[in-house]
Amino acid sequence: MNFQNIFLILIIASVSCCFFGCFQWAARAENKLPEKTALHKSYDYDGKVIIVGAGASGLAAAKVLEQNNIDYIILEATNRYGGRLKKDTTLADFPIDIGAEWLHSSPLVLNKLKGKNGNEIDESLIPYKLENTATWDGKNYITNPKWQDNFRYNFLPESKFKSATWYDFVNENIAEEVKHKINYNSIVTGINYSGNKVIVKTENGKTHQADRVLVTVSIGILKSNMITFIPEMNKEKKQAIASITFLPGIKVAMKFSQKFYPDAIGCTVDSGEKVYYDIAFKKNSQDNILGFLWVGEEIQNYIKLKSEQEIIDSLLEELDQMFDGKASSSYTGNYILENWGQHEFTQGTWVQAFQEKKSHLKELNKPLHKKVYFAGEIYDTYKQMGVPGAILSGYYAADKILTDK
Ligand SMILES: Cc1cc2nc3c(=O)[nH]c(=O)nc-3n(C[C@H](O)[C@H](O)[C@H](O)COP(=O)(O)OP(=O)(O)OC[C@H]3O[C@@H](n4cnc5c(N)ncnc54)[C@H](O)[C@@H]3O)c2cc1C
Repeated sequence: MNFQNIFLILIIASVSCCFFGCFQWAARAENKLPEKTALHKSYDYDGKVIIVGAGASGLAAAKVLEQNNIDYIILEATNRYGGRLKKDTTLADFPIDIGAEWLHSSPLVLNKLKGKNGNEIDESLIPYKLENTATWDGKNYITNPKWQDNFRYNFLPESKFKSATWYDFVNENIAEEVKHKINYNSIVTGINYSGNKVIVKTENGKTHQADRVLVTVSIGILKSNMITFIPEMNKEKKQAIASITFLPGIKVAMKFSQKFYPDAIGCTVDSGEKVYYDIAFKKNSQDNILGFLWVGEEIQNYIKLKSEQEIIDSLLEELDQMFDGKASSSYTGNYILENWGQHEFTQGTWVQAFQEKKSHLKELNKPLHKKVYFAGEIYDTYKQMGVPGAILSGYYAADKILTDK
């Protein structure tokens, strides 16, 4: 979701509408979907594959390998799968997405991700058509005009799962089939592709061998040099990695005894986005859960200074300014807070591939010596953004691994 960029989007959209007629972002992304994915093909490959990372893209690639009886394992740094997909079932009477939450592209993409034919969607979705929103510049609270909310939805018709989460979707349709192949707590620190076989080293001192390796860690992890590649990646690839914007950020959900806020409040920030929003919007829920998403460079200093409790206190203080003290008087004391920017195995939030240079994206997608391949949200060949982009990149990379001569 690009709340902070709403103004920019509106301006671009207005200009585009004048010249090209009104179009829908999601409808455009729909045209870019592949006719078929690797899920619809069969492969005959007798080498061994290692997948690094059990996020959406790594799990998706594994699904293709599993379906074709390929010899493979997944090395995952943490003790869980999902990566930037995570859910909480303790705060509210509905499951809350702590990572990815919205479906930015057309709902039809869900069928592609599952390998299902046709246009009938099984999932129950909430069209994210907000009815009352506001803007906060730190001093003034301004209710946005209705046309702005309508315009936003027409331009970017997003949706959310009605009673499930992105984590559930990936869990049921992808992870269930492949989770038995995950080696947890396996932090990959080195990938040596100089010889006939690729040697993958983990922090606990183990080594694994394979014919081909698929790296699905976030661009933040590649930037951090947590993994040493032997031989080193070429200059162009290193430059491409360094060039990608991967902003830090936090996501918070707070529980209140009454709903004093509108559907969403976009806050003015210098870069990235900062938004309060009703997480329970159109859910079957009795609970009042207010979400907060802040992504951008400005958050770095803020986080350094503050403990979790101090962050919550400062959010309540800001909300109290907007709503005349109603936030702290109705706060129940219950919250969830995830600091994705400082998460050791994520080191950021999300990328916006469409804003990056095409030449860099092309460079990133190139395998190393036809032995080390890459997948994940930034390698989104079909321009779907976020989770769908990550999953489709996993299918795409699996196809390449199994067919590259
Ligand atoms: C707060 C937030 C909100 C978001 N909102 C949305 C949204 O609304 N809609 C949307 O579509 N997308 C959203 N996204 C983006 C979306 O979550 C990602 O695009 C997607 O989940 C990326 O999947 P991935 O497989 O590429 O990477 P990841 O999920 O990062 O998976 C990489 C995996 O690699 C593992 N790993 C890392 N380093 C190592 C190592 N050295 N060795 C072994 N394993 C390692 C990690 O633990 C992780 O499991 C959001 C992201 C965040 C953080």
